[in-house]
Amino acid sequence: MSRIQLLPEEVASQVAAGEVVERPASVIKELVENSLDAGAARIEIAARRGGASMIRVVDDGSGMDRDDALLCLERHATSKIRTGLDLASVSTLGFRGEALPSIASVSRFRLATREHGAVGGTEIVVNGGRIEAVRDSGEAPGTQIEVRSLFYNLPARRKFLRSEATEASHIEHQVHLQAIGHPGVGFALLLDDRLAFQLAPAASLAERVRDLLGDKLVGDLIELPGFDTGGVHVRGLIGKPGVSRSTRQQQIVFVNGRAVENPALNHGLREGYHTALMKGQFPITYLFLDIDPGQVDVNVHPAKREVRFRNPAAIREAVAQAVRITLESGRAAWARSFLPAPAPASPFAVPTESAQSPGIPEPLPLIPPAQQHVLRNDWAEFPRTSPAPGSPAPPETPPSPASVESLPLPGRPAPAVDAPTGFRIIGVLGRLYILLENAQGLVLVDQHAAHERILFEQMRRQMETGGVPGQRLLMPATLQLPPRDFDWVRSRIPDLHKMGIGIEEFGPGTLKIDTLPEYLIGGDPGQLVRDLIEELRGMDSATSRLRLGEDLIATTVCRHAVKAHDLLRGPELVRLIEDLLACDLPYCCPHGRPTMIQISHGELERKFGRVV
Ligand code: ADP
Ligand code: MG
Repeated sequence: MSRIQLLPEEVASQVAAGEVVERPASVIKELVENSLDAGAARIEIAARRGGASMIRVVDDGSGMDRDDALLCLERHATSKIRTGLDLASVSTLGFRGEALPSIASVSRFRLATREHGAVGGTEIVVNGGRIEAVRDSGEAPGTQIEVRSLFYNLPARRKFLRSEATEASHIEHQVHLQAIGHPGVGFALLLDDRLAFQLAPAASLAERVRDLLGDKLVGDLIELPGFDTGGVHVRGLIGKPGVSRSTRQQQIVFVNGRAVENPALNHGLREGYHTALMKGQFPITYLFLDIDPGQVDVNVHPAKREVRFRNPAAIREAVAQAVRITLESGRAAWARSFLPAPAPASPFAVPTESAQSPGIPEPLPLIPPAQQHVLRNDWAEFPRTSPAPGSPAPPETPPSPASVESLPLPGRPAPAVDAPTGFRIIGVLGRLYILLENAQGLVLVDQHAAHERILFEQMRRQMETGGVPGQRLLMPATLQLPPRDFDWVRSRIPDLHKMGIGIEEFGPGTLKIDTLPEYLIGGDPGQLVRDLIEELRGMDSATSRLRLGEDLIATTVCRHAVKAHDLLRGPELVRLIEDLLACDLPYCCPHGRPTMIQISHGELERKFGRVV
């Protein structure tokens, strides 16, 4: 007898089910995708005991006639593609024709369906893949599928189910994804007969996110209005700079309506956020990419979670650019909150004697006047830009306000048209937090983080314009590299020059470094170039090249920024805040930590019980 045998259909379906149906949430994913493909306007999902005992999905979509209802339970039966060529441009969520037979083979399954306008419908009962009954049914137009006792005939698989609560949370996440991906469709989710949420069809993504996740989250998001780059349309909602999560759960990207994972998308997001994101943190995104279906292969994974892009670099670039532009443009709206505060002069405010910033009083002197002499000497030491070691010591006497104002700030941008000027400095808390009043209420600024951001943007601007001035090293350093790295660095010498790094060939496999930008002096030049090689390697897209060296700057500015407990006073405070507000991304330091926290009048009123 031949050793090889064809598997019976039921067993083949169970094998396929192993891939498609991982857990109750994957059953729900497949069923909801079918409802969406059928054009449903409302979908109701119910699950009991984490989906292990019962799952039901009811939609008001197209429904099926009896022939189709029978056919949809066959393996590889689908209405969504016809030929192999269609596989190259799938525009529906399903296409494999596998889900229903797979699910039906590992559960007690009931399908009731009726086309709109049909006199009656069809009900089919399947048990472990065997059709047990086909009869007329009088359900409403649309389709209902009920899946009971999932994996009852695959005990090994059933054992792998997690606790009911865990499975229920996977289900909830899955329905969230679908609801966000399709704001125009109404959704309801019942868990153990309790309504988890009900969402009316929404007019916009923002409305859907608000209905689902509340006002607070929506306040943390900004709209990415829609960018077209190289055949990719990117739109959605993304977290403001500094808003992040410790997991990827809320970093959600839909490609042609399908929530997917893909390294190019992850890289694009990280690159777009760049310094607006703390290390190890993930952004919140509800990002939608619409691209020609021919440019993306969805047939990678049976559960269709992964996709492959024809041109991943273009996708990565499109995402990075859209995110970066959005984050920086969100600035204008935010800056409006710094327009003149209508507040009456505080009884504590001391009238200003310096004329350099009209309307901005000097901070409240928190220190007894007797000690002020000492402090005045302190503030002269505030490093306006990063002084190189060995640069002249700060003057003994405090500079006059005018001379502070005229201290050189290389690369400082012309003030933006919307440069906000309306804030009032109240004082400094613990030599660390600058307290400001603006139109919305109280603002706390972390002076160290703020200064880091300012220095970072100055240096970056210099770098981009090719004008980082180099300083000659007293002792040029030489660096030996293995041939691969050597060739690589050699091809990048112009880029390095742009960064203020004077480097040239110095015999086979050897490089000489004789100039470094001011802010890098003091480190080990050889190690520095080695770190740079590492960094440069990961850079291929145009955005990345722009950001050449940024990580390095981000780590070095920290050393040069004003320290948390340095005492700042008068003009320095004003200047620091003005410079911060003129930054492209003022809300967070180059490591993604916030530079400021706003406490609104409303919040204060609630805290004091003035409003409920
Ligand atoms: P696929 O979605 O990959 O085509 P499925 O096994 O999920 O495969 O479904 C098989 C077919 O059954 C679909 O192509 C569709 O024609 C039909 N079908 C499934 N669910 C529904 C539904 N809720 N409403 C209408 N038709 C459906
Ligand atoms: Mg399907």
